[in-house]
Amino acid sequence: MQYLPIFVQLTDKPVLVVGGGSVALRKAGTLLSAGAKLIVVAPEFAAEFIAWQQQGKAELIHGYFVPSLLDNKLLVIAATNSDRVNAAVYKAATARNMLVNTVDDQAKCGFIFPAIIDRSPILIAISSFGTAPVLARRLREKLEALLPQHLGTLAQLVGGFRSKVKAKFTSFAARRQFWEGVFNSAVVREVQANQLDKAEQHLQQLLNAPQQLSGEVYIVGAGPGDPELLTLKALQLMQQADVVVYDYLVSPQIIELVRRDAEKICVGKKAGEHSVPQQDTNQLLIDLALSGKKVCRLKGGDPFIFGRGGEEIQALVPHKIAFQVVPGITAAAGCAAYAGIPLTHRDHAQSVQFVTGHCKSEGSEPEWLSMSKANQTLVIYMGLMKAGHIQQQLIRAGRSGETLVAIIENGTRLEQRIVSGQLQDLAQLVQQHQISSPALLVIGDVVSLQQDLHWFGQRPQPAVLNQPAVFSQATVFNQKLSQMA
Ligand code: SAH
Repeated sequence: MQYLPIFVQLTDKPVLVVGGGSVALRKAGTLLSAGAKLIVVAPEFAAEFIAWQQQGKAELIHGYFVPSLLDNKLLVIAATNSDRVNAAVYKAATARNMLVNTVDDQAKCGFIFPAIIDRSPILIAISSFGTAPVLARRLREKLEALLPQHLGTLAQLVGGFRSKVKAKFTSFAARRQFWEGVFNSAVVREVQANQLDKAEQHLQQLLNAPQQLSGEVYIVGAGPGDPELLTLKALQLMQQADVVVYDYLVSPQIIELVRRDAEKICVGKKAGEHSVPQQDTNQLLIDLALSGKKVCRLKGGDPFIFGRGGEEIQALVPHKIAFQVVPGITAAAGCAAYAGIPLTHRDHAQSVQFVTGHCKSEGSEPEWLSMSKANQTLVIYMGLMKAGHIQQQLIRAGRSGETLVAIIENGTRLEQRIVSGQLQDLAQLVQQHQISSPALLVIGDVVSLQQDLHWFGQRPQPAVLNQPAVFSQATVFNQKLSQMA
């Protein structure tokens, strides 16, 4: 170890900063956030320094560095734009055995500033000791994303209980076991949900009666497929869970991000294929949670949009199983963005409807009439098998057969494929291009925009159908595009 990482208590401790420009300002800001008493010497100062002086946060000395300024200071920062002055500060400080940091000159540093991740009172410091600052910064960004914001609050809460726990459990092993239980309990989720009173009560209960800690369920939206569209919270919970219960829409790349040693259970739900009945999935979640497991129920897109997230929670509630819900990017938003089709556009669509092509009971139908008006975009989930019916019903309800449609297969994934054409050819397009699930239907004038706004994957081709009659429809499509252009 070339350096020793230590955390220095700086509250009200005098620190000298030599320099009044932007570099000095950055260091001074860090020192102030640690509560240091700043004394800054420079011939002139950036505006922020003046403001800090007015707020009583810094003492400014207009002038040049002289060694006597080091008297009674704990640390010194040389942050001028003159190597000569910085060298003089370094020399004078080391002669007094003081710790000095010379900005951008590691050879003249008795101490260095690490990259900091601040979840006070949890602090993480990272440094490559000047060898690879960009790598250190990237590492910090990665950790920043992984470490939940509530970590500091959690540490603060448990900090308040430390002495009580110490009094109750005399052995170190018993204390450790207690804390492990707390960090596996719903207390963490309650802090995360900003229910601090509840978390405190819960912690007190656990202390009064240490018991078998109960499990919980996270209903998590995994987005449409591209793993980078996961939310930070989804990733954190995927890393925390003991078991992950997922369905077929969750892409393999996303499953790879689940904690390595977590159990993974697939309850595939591909329309028309064998899948675990919803009742059984509900029961599985209940059983796992009641056995004390933290269960991540990972769902494609958003759990509350055609995702049966509501039904699963309804099943948990009577068992008093704790849960939380993490929204995900729904297929409509994800696929439209990656296809270059804005779902609304002031010139083309003033509203958008998300519709399911697959109703719970046979015979129940969406409200086709409400979808018949032009100037609205329809996004149809699970519409592939019923493409012919959808086409027929929409046209019967009054939507023009020439309305543009896009069929987006595997949206946001590397295999994304888009076929566009007209509503009157929808079923034929699905069949001819052998579109397979998952696929989303986008219907409305906004589809015309993809020719210009396309940015991801293959450039979309207007449909070219086999039969001569349909060839001309592709031409109609092109004509319509040029009219709109
Ligand atoms: N809860 C999910 C939807 C589940 S219903 C969400 O919010 O996105 C399943 C349907 O979603 C599929 O039949 C398909 O129509 C659509 N879908 C989901 N992911 C998709 C993707 N990557 N590409 C195209 N369609 C997708």
